[in-house]
Amino acid sequence: MNHHVTVVLGTRPELIKLAPIINLLGSDTMVVHTGQHDHEQMSARIAATFGIPLQHLTTRREYAQGRGSQLGDMVTALDRRLRADPPAVVVVQGDTTSALAGALAANHADLPLVHVEAGLRSFDRAMPEEHNRVLIDHLAGLCCAPTELNRANLRAEAIPEHRILLTGNTIVEAVQAMLPGPTSRTRLLHKHKLTARSFVLATLHRPENVDHPEILDLLLTELATIGAPVILPLHPRTARCIDEFGLAHRLSPLQTTEPLDYPEFLALAHSAAMLISDSGGVQEEASVVKTPVIVVRRSTERPEIETTFGLRVIPSRELGALARRWLHDSDRYHHKLADLPSPFGDGAAARQIADALNQLSQPGYEIRRPITNSDGRLGDDVASRGKRPRLATSPAGK
Ligand code: UDP
Repeated sequence: MNHHVTVVLGTRPELIKLAPIINLLGSDTMVVHTGQHDHEQMSARIAATFGIPLQHLTTRREYAQGRGSQLGDMVTALDRRLRADPPAVVVVQGDTTSALAGALAANHADLPLVHVEAGLRSFDRAMPEEHNRVLIDHLAGLCCAPTELNRANLRAEAIPEHRILLTGNTIVEAVQAMLPGPTSRTRLLHKHKLTARSFVLATLHRPENVDHPEILDLLLTELATIGAPVILPLHPRTARCIDEFGLAHRLSPLQTTEPLDYPEFLALAHSAAMLISDSGGVQEEASVVKTPVIVVRRSTERPEIETTFGLRVIPSRELGALARRWLHDSDRYHHKLADLPSPFGDGAAARQIADALNQLSQPGYEIRRPITNSDGRLGDDVASRGKRPRLATSPAGK
Protein backbone atom coordinates (compact mmCIF):
# COMPACT_ATOMS: atom_id res chain seq x y z
CA MET A 1 0.00 0.00 0.00
CA ASN A 2 1.25 3.46 -0.84
CA HIS A 3 1.22 5.88 2.04
CA HIS A 4 0.38 9.46 1.20
CA VAL A 5 2.46 10.96 3.95
CA THR A 6 5.50 9.54 5.72
CA VAL A 7 6.45 11.25 8.97
CA VAL A 8 10.03 10.69 10.16
CA LEU A 9 10.76 11.31 13.85
CA GLY A 10 12.92 9.95 16.64
CA THR A 11 12.58 11.94 19.86
CA ARG A 12 10.01 12.89 22.48
CA PRO A 13 9.45 16.51 21.36
CA GLU A 14 9.00 15.45 17.72
CA LEU A 15 6.32 12.96 18.75
CA ILE A 16 4.52 15.54 20.88
CA LYS A 17 4.55 18.29 18.24
CA LEU A 18 3.75 16.07 15.26
CA ALA A 19 0.97 14.13 17.01
CA PRO A 20 -1.72 16.79 16.44
CA ILE A 21 -0.94 16.75 12.69
CA ILE A 22 -0.73 12.94 12.44
CA ASN A 23 -4.07 12.58 14.18
CA LEU A 24 -5.68 14.89 11.61
CA LEU A 25 -4.11 13.14 8.61
CA GLY A 26 -5.70 9.75 9.11
CA SER A 27 -4.86 6.18 8.34
CA ASP A 28 -2.74 6.44 5.20
CA THR A 29 0.02 8.13 7.15
CA MET A 30 3.13 6.18 8.07
CA VAL A 31 5.09 7.27 11.15
CA VAL A 32 8.68 6.03 11.05
CA HIS A 33 10.54 6.18 14.36
CA THR A 34 14.31 6.21 13.96
CA GLY A 35 15.01 4.90 17.46
CA GLN A 36 16.99 8.01 18.51
CA HIS A 37 15.10 8.10 21.84
CA ASP A 38 14.56 4.49 22.82
CA HIS A 39 13.59 4.99 26.48
CA GLU A 40 10.05 3.64 26.89
CA GLN A 41 8.84 6.91 28.50
CA MET A 42 10.37 9.02 25.72
CA SER A 43 8.97 7.13 22.74
CA ALA A 44 6.47 4.23 22.99
CA ARG A 45 4.67 5.74 25.96
CA ILE A 46 4.26 9.17 24.31
CA ALA A 47 3.06 7.53 21.07
CA ALA A 48 0.51 5.49 23.02
CA THR A 49 -0.70 8.63 24.84
CA PHE A 50 -1.56 10.21 21.49
CA GLY A 51 -2.73 6.91 19.94
CA ILE A 52 -0.06 6.90 17.23
CA PRO A 53 1.16 3.59 15.74
CA LEU A 54 4.91 3.65 15.09
CA GLN A 55 6.92 1.82 12.45
CA HIS A 56 10.35 1.20 13.94
CA LEU A 57 13.29 1.76 11.62
CA THR A 58 15.79 0.06 13.88
CA THR A 59 16.87 0.31 17.51
CA ARG A 60 19.30 2.82 18.96
CA ARG A 61 21.72 0.03 19.85
CA GLU A 62 22.17 -0.82 16.18
CA TYR A 63 23.49 2.65 15.34
CA ALA A 64 27.22 3.26 15.30
CA GLN A 65 28.58 5.52 18.05
CA GLY A 66 28.94 9.25 17.42
CA ARG A 67 26.64 11.80 15.80
CA GLY A 68 28.13 11.57 12.29
CA SER A 69 27.91 7.79 12.16
CA GLN A 70 24.43 7.82 13.64
CA LEU A 71 23.29 10.31 10.99
CA GLY A 72 24.85 8.19 8.22
CA ASP A 73 23.20 5.00 9.50
CA MET A 74 19.83 6.70 9.76
CA VAL A 75 20.01 8.15 6.25
CA THR A 76 20.93 4.74 4.83
CA ALA A 77 18.05 2.98 6.60
CA LEU A 78 15.55 5.73 5.73
CA ASP A 79 16.66 5.83 2.10
CA ARG A 80 15.94 2.12 1.84
CA ARG A 81 12.55 2.55 3.52
CA LEU A 82 11.47 5.52 1.39
CA ARG A 83 12.49 3.87 -1.87
CA ALA A 84 10.70 0.63 -0.96
CA ASP A 85 7.44 2.45 -0.17
CA PRO A 86 7.60 5.99 -1.60
CA PRO A 87 5.06 8.39 -0.10
CA ALA A 88 3.71 11.50 -1.81
CA VAL A 89 5.41 13.67 0.79
CA VAL A 90 7.82 13.37 3.74
CA VAL A 91 7.40 15.39 6.95
CA VAL A 92 10.03 16.17 9.58
CA GLN A 93 9.90 18.47 12.62
CA GLY A 94 12.48 20.56 14.45
CA ASP A 95 16.22 20.17 14.54
CA THR A 96 17.23 16.68 15.68
CA THR A 97 19.58 14.19 14.01
CA SER A 98 16.45 12.20 13.06
CA ALA A 99 14.87 15.24 11.40
CA LEU A 100 18.02 15.95 9.39
CA ALA A 101 18.30 12.27 8.41
CA GLY A 102 14.66 12.32 7.23
CA ALA A 103 15.28 15.48 5.22
CA LEU A 104 18.42 14.11 3.55
CA ALA A 105 16.78 10.76 2.78
CA ALA A 106 13.74 12.48 1.24
CA ASN A 107 16.07 14.59 -0.86
CA HIS A 108 18.03 11.57 -2.05
CA ALA A 109 14.84 9.67 -2.88
CA ASP A 110 13.62 12.77 -4.72
CA LEU A 111 10.54 13.13 -2.56
CA PRO A 112 8.88 16.40 -1.50
CA LEU A 113 9.78 17.51 2.03
CA VAL A 114 7.77 19.57 4.52
CA HIS A 115 9.52 21.02 7.60
CA VAL A 116 7.36 21.67 10.64
CA GLU A 117 8.75 24.28 13.08
CA ALA A 118 10.91 25.96 10.45
CA GLY A 119 12.83 29.22 10.71
CA LEU A 120 14.03 29.01 14.33
CA ARG A 121 17.52 30.45 14.69
CA SER A 122 19.78 30.79 17.73
CA PHE A 123 22.69 32.05 15.61
CA ASP A 124 24.79 29.93 17.98
CA ARG A 125 26.97 27.93 15.63
CA ALA A 126 28.34 25.84 18.47
CA MET A 127 24.98 24.03 18.63
CA PRO A 128 24.55 21.06 16.27
CA GLU A 129 20.80 21.78 16.29
CA GLU A 130 21.40 25.17 14.66
CA HIS A 131 23.17 23.53 11.73
CA ASN A 132 20.47 20.87 11.49
CA ARG A 133 17.63 23.39 11.30
CA VAL A 134 19.34 25.58 8.71
CA LEU A 135 20.04 22.56 6.50
CA ILE A 136 16.51 21.20 6.80
CA ASP A 137 14.91 24.56 5.98
CA HIS A 138 16.99 24.80 2.82
CA LEU A 139 16.17 21.24 1.77
CA ALA A 140 12.43 21.63 2.41
CA GLY A 141 9.97 22.50 -0.30
CA LEU A 142 7.59 23.87 2.32
CA CYS A 143 8.74 25.47 5.60
CA CYS A 144 6.01 25.76 8.26
CA ALA A 145 7.09 28.74 10.38
CA PRO A 146 5.51 29.02 13.84
CA THR A 147 5.94 32.80 14.28
CA GLU A 148 6.47 36.00 12.29
CA LEU A 149 10.05 36.09 13.55
CA ASN A 150 10.66 32.57 12.21
CA ARG A 151 9.26 33.66 8.84
CA ALA A 152 11.55 36.70 8.84
CA ASN A 153 14.54 34.42 9.53
CA LEU A 154 13.65 32.31 6.48
CA ARG A 155 13.19 35.37 4.30
CA ALA A 156 16.58 36.69 5.46
CA GLU A 157 18.15 33.50 4.09
CA ALA A 158 16.47 34.08 0.73
CA ILE A 159 14.02 31.21 1.07
CA PRO A 160 11.34 32.27 -1.39
CA GLU A 161 7.91 33.33 -0.21
CA HIS A 162 6.06 30.46 -1.85
CA ARG A 163 8.04 27.97 0.25
CA ILE A 164 6.97 29.53 3.57
CA LEU A 165 3.71 28.97 5.44
CA LEU A 166 3.07 30.88 8.68
CA THR A 167 1.26 28.41 10.93
CA GLY A 168 1.79 28.87 14.67
CA ASN A 169 3.23 25.99 16.69
CA THR A 170 1.41 22.67 17.08
CA ILE A 171 2.52 22.51 20.74
CA VAL A 172 -0.54 24.65 21.48
CA GLU A 173 -2.85 21.89 20.22
CA ALA A 174 -0.79 19.21 22.00
CA VAL A 175 -1.29 21.04 25.32
CA GLN A 176 -4.97 21.69 24.62
CA ALA A 177 -5.49 17.99 23.94
CA MET A 178 -3.45 16.60 26.84
CA LEU A 179 -3.67 18.99 29.81
CA PRO A 180 -5.70 17.13 32.46
CA GLY A 181 -8.75 18.85 33.97
CA PRO A 182 -8.84 20.36 37.49
CA THR A 183 -9.83 17.14 39.32
CA SER A 184 -7.04 15.10 37.72
CA ARG A 185 -4.57 17.92 38.34
CA THR A 186 -5.40 17.90 42.05
CA ARG A 187 -5.00 14.12 42.15
CA LEU A 188 -1.60 14.35 40.44
CA LEU A 189 -0.44 17.04 42.88
CA HIS A 190 -1.40 14.74 45.79
CA LYS A 191 0.51 11.89 44.16
CA HIS A 192 3.70 14.00 44.26
CA LYS A 193 2.86 15.50 47.70
CA LEU A 194 2.79 19.01 46.24
CA THR A 195 0.42 21.93 46.55
CA ALA A 196 -0.44 24.33 43.73
CA ARG A 197 1.89 27.33 43.20
CA SER A 198 4.27 26.25 45.95
CA PHE A 199 6.79 24.19 43.96
CA VAL A 200 9.16 24.42 41.02
CA LEU A 201 9.16 22.03 38.04
CA ALA A 202 12.61 21.74 36.44
CA THR A 203 14.07 19.91 33.43
CA LEU A 204 17.68 19.86 32.21
CA HIS A 205 19.08 17.90 29.30
CA ARG A 206 21.02 20.11 26.86
CA PRO A 207 24.63 19.02 26.33
CA GLU A 208 25.81 22.57 27.16
CA ASN A 209 24.35 22.11 30.69
CA VAL A 210 24.66 18.42 31.49
CA ASP A 211 27.80 17.25 29.68
CA HIS A 212 30.17 19.32 31.85
CA PRO A 213 30.61 18.17 35.48
CA GLU A 214 31.15 21.68 36.91
CA ILE A 215 28.12 23.16 35.17
CA LEU A 216 25.84 20.27 36.09
CA ASP A 217 27.09 20.43 39.68
CA LEU A 218 26.41 24.18 39.81
CA LEU A 219 22.90 23.83 38.37
CA LEU A 220 21.86 21.04 40.75
CA THR A 221 23.31 23.02 43.66
CA GLU A 222 21.40 26.16 42.63
CA LEU A 223 18.10 24.26 42.36
CA ALA A 224 18.53 23.24 46.00
CA THR A 225 18.79 26.88 47.16
CA ILE A 226 15.34 28.01 45.98
CA GLY A 227 13.51 27.32 49.23
CA ALA A 228 10.60 25.39 47.68
CA PRO A 229 10.19 21.77 46.60
CA VAL A 230 11.84 21.22 43.21
CA ILE A 231 10.55 18.33 41.15
CA LEU A 232 13.09 17.21 38.54
CA PRO A 233 12.09 14.50 36.03
CA LEU A 234 15.42 13.15 34.85
CA HIS A 235 16.09 12.96 31.13
CA PRO A 236 18.06 9.73 30.42
CA ARG A 237 21.06 11.79 29.26
CA THR A 238 21.06 13.82 32.50
CA ALA A 239 20.69 10.68 34.62
CA ARG A 240 23.68 9.16 32.80
CA CYS A 241 25.83 12.27 33.34
CA ILE A 242 24.93 12.56 37.06
CA ASP A 243 25.97 8.97 37.48
CA GLU A 244 29.17 9.30 35.48
CA PHE A 245 30.27 12.52 37.28
CA GLY A 246 29.49 11.15 40.76
CA LEU A 247 26.88 13.87 41.46
CA ALA A 248 24.11 11.66 42.88
CA HIS A 249 24.50 13.30 46.31
CA ARG A 250 23.32 16.63 44.78
CA LEU A 251 19.90 15.07 44.15
CA SER A 252 18.95 14.45 47.78
CA PRO A 253 17.34 17.90 48.37
CA LEU A 254 15.39 17.54 45.08
CA GLN A 255 12.37 15.43 44.14
CA THR A 256 13.64 13.45 41.15
CA THR A 257 11.50 11.16 39.01
CA GLU A 258 11.69 9.16 35.81
CA PRO A 259 10.50 11.10 32.72
CA LEU A 260 6.81 11.77 33.40
CA ASP A 261 3.88 10.91 31.19
CA TYR A 262 3.04 13.91 29.05
CA PRO A 263 -0.35 14.74 30.66
CA GLU A 264 1.20 14.41 34.12
CA PHE A 265 4.06 16.72 33.17
CA LEU A 266 1.58 19.29 31.82
CA ALA A 267 -0.53 19.09 34.98
CA LEU A 268 2.53 19.87 37.10
CA ALA A 269 3.65 22.64 34.69
CA HIS A 270 0.20 24.21 34.98
CA SER A 271 0.23 24.14 38.79
CA ALA A 272 3.89 25.05 39.45
CA ALA A 273 4.99 28.40 40.85
CA MET A 274 7.54 28.46 38.02
CA LEU A 275 9.36 26.31 35.52
CA ILE A 276 13.13 26.10 35.19
CA SER A 277 14.24 24.47 31.97
CA ASP A 278 16.64 24.31 29.05
CA SER A 279 14.00 22.57 26.91
CA GLY A 280 12.54 24.19 23.81
CA GLY A 281 9.15 22.52 24.19
CA VAL A 282 8.82 23.39 27.88
CA GLN A 283 9.35 27.10 27.15
CA GLU A 284 6.57 26.99 24.59
CA GLU A 285 4.26 25.11 26.94
CA ALA A 286 4.90 27.75 29.62
CA SER A 287 3.16 30.26 27.34
CA VAL A 288 0.11 28.01 26.99
CA VAL A 289 -0.31 27.01 30.66
CA LYS A 290 0.67 30.58 31.68
CA THR A 291 3.43 29.64 34.13
CA PRO A 292 6.60 31.77 34.22
CA VAL A 293 9.76 30.03 33.04
CA ILE A 294 13.46 30.59 33.74
CA VAL A 295 15.38 29.39 30.69
CA VAL A 296 18.89 28.13 31.45
CA ARG A 297 20.70 28.51 28.16
CA ARG A 298 23.66 30.22 26.56
CA SER A 299 21.58 31.25 23.56
CA THR A 300 18.00 30.90 22.40
CA GLU A 301 16.15 30.18 19.18
CA ARG A 302 12.89 31.24 20.87
CA PRO A 303 13.36 34.92 21.75
CA GLU A 304 9.56 35.29 21.65
CA ILE A 305 9.55 33.88 25.21
CA GLU A 306 12.07 36.30 26.68
CA THR A 307 10.57 39.24 28.58
CA THR A 308 7.04 37.82 28.22
CA PHE A 309 6.66 34.38 29.78
CA GLY A 310 10.29 33.91 30.66
CA LEU A 311 13.77 35.16 31.31
CA ARG A 312 17.01 33.53 30.24
CA VAL A 313 20.04 33.06 32.49
CA ILE A 314 23.35 31.42 31.74
CA PRO A 315 24.32 28.69 34.24
CA SER A 316 25.44 30.74 37.27
CA ARG A 317 24.47 31.73 40.82
CA GLU A 318 21.96 34.07 39.18
CA LEU A 319 19.67 31.05 38.70
CA GLY A 320 18.94 30.51 42.39
CA ALA A 321 18.73 34.26 43.08
CA LEU A 322 16.20 34.85 40.27
CA ALA A 323 14.11 31.81 41.26
CA ARG A 324 13.94 33.02 44.89
CA ARG A 325 12.80 36.48 43.74
CA TRP A 326 10.13 34.97 41.47
CA LEU A 327 8.90 32.65 44.19
CA HIS A 328 8.42 35.62 46.48
CA ASP A 329 6.36 37.43 43.82
CA SER A 330 4.69 34.35 42.35
CA ASP A 331 1.05 35.52 42.61
CA ARG A 332 1.81 38.80 40.87
CA TYR A 333 3.62 37.04 37.98
CA HIS A 334 0.82 34.53 37.50
CA HIS A 335 -1.74 37.30 37.49
CA LYS A 336 0.25 39.22 34.87
CA LEU A 337 0.57 36.20 32.57
CA ALA A 338 -2.98 34.88 32.91
CA ASP A 339 -4.36 36.78 29.92
CA LEU A 340 -1.21 37.14 27.83
CA PRO A 341 -1.63 35.33 24.50
CA SER A 342 0.95 32.71 23.56
CA PRO A 343 3.36 33.89 20.85
CA PHE A 344 2.96 30.41 19.32
CA GLY A 345 -0.60 30.84 18.14
CA ASP A 346 -4.08 29.84 19.14
CA GLY A 347 -4.29 26.18 18.19
CA ALA A 348 -4.82 26.32 14.42
CA ALA A 349 -1.35 25.19 13.32
CA ALA A 350 -1.98 21.45 12.99
CA ARG A 351 -5.14 21.95 10.92
CA GLN A 352 -3.35 24.35 8.57
CA ILE A 353 -0.38 22.01 8.12
CA ALA A 354 -2.60 18.94 7.67
CA ASP A 355 -4.59 20.80 5.00
CA ALA A 356 -1.38 21.68 3.15
CA LEU A 357 -0.21 18.04 3.36
CA ASN A 358 -3.54 16.76 2.10
CA GLN A 359 -3.30 19.06 -0.89
CA LEU A 360 0.27 18.02 -1.59
CA SER A 361 -0.52 14.32 -1.46
CA GLN A 362 -3.55 14.36 -3.77
CA PRO A 363 -3.16 11.70 -6.47
CA GLY A 364 -2.33 13.28 -9.78
CA TYR A 365 -1.25 16.50 -8.15
CA GLU A 366 0.05 18.33 -11.15
CA ILE A 367 3.44 19.79 -11.77
CA ARG A 368 3.65 23.42 -10.69
CA ARG A 369 0.13 23.49 -9.38
CA PRO A 370 0.30 25.87 -6.45
CA ILE A 371 -1.13 25.18 -3.02
CA THR A 372 -3.21 28.16 -2.07
CA ASN A 373 -4.40 29.44 1.24
CA SER A 374 -5.25 32.86 2.58
CA ASP A 375 -1.63 33.93 2.10
CA GLY A 376 -1.72 33.15 -1.61
CA ARG A 377 0.48 30.70 -3.52
CA LEU A 378 2.56 28.31 -1.51
CA GLY A 379 4.85 25.38 -1.79
CA ASP A 380 4.52 24.75 -5.52
CA ASP A 381 7.99 23.33 -5.93
CA VAL A 382 7.15 20.82 -3.20
CA ALA A 383 4.44 19.38 -5.38
CA SER A 384 6.59 19.18 -8.44
CA ARG A 385 9.67 17.55 -6.89
CA GLY A 386 10.71 14.57 -8.89
CA LYS A 387 9.59 16.11 -12.12
CA ARG A 388 12.16 18.82 -12.44
CA PRO A 389 15.71 19.42 -11.29
CA ARG A 390 16.41 19.00 -7.58
CA LEU A 391 16.28 21.91 -5.22
CA ALA A 392 14.62 24.28 -7.64
CA THR A 393 14.39 27.57 -5.83
CA SER A 394 12.58 29.84 -8.21
CA PRO A 395 8.81 30.22 -7.95
CA ALA A 396 6.85 28.28 -10.54
CA GLY A 397 6.20 30.11 -13.75
CA LYS A 398 9.17 32.44 -13.41
N1 UDP B 1 8.16 16.22 28.88
C1 UDP B 1 7.42 15.12 29.30
N2 UDP B 1 7.80 14.51 30.47
C2 UDP B 1 8.85 14.92 31.21
C3 UDP B 1 9.61 16.04 30.75
C4 UDP B 1 9.24 16.65 29.58
O1 UDP B 1 6.44 14.71 28.66
O2 UDP B 1 9.13 14.34 32.25
C5 UDP B 1 7.78 16.88 27.61
C6 UDP B 1 7.58 18.37 27.73
O3 UDP B 1 6.25 18.64 28.14
C7 UDP B 1 7.91 18.87 26.35
C8 UDP B 1 8.90 17.86 25.83
O4 UDP B 1 8.85 16.75 26.70
O5 UDP B 1 6.79 18.86 25.51
C9 UDP B 1 10.27 18.46 25.78
O6 UDP B 1 11.17 17.51 25.40
P1 UDP B 1 12.75 17.72 25.58
O7 UDP B 1 12.97 18.64 26.71
O8 UDP B 1 13.32 16.35 25.64
O9 UDP B 1 13.21 18.35 24.20
P2 UDP B 1 13.26 19.83 23.58
O10 UDP B 1 11.89 20.40 23.66
O11 UDP B 1 14.26 20.62 24.32
O12 UDP B 1 13.69 19.62 22.17
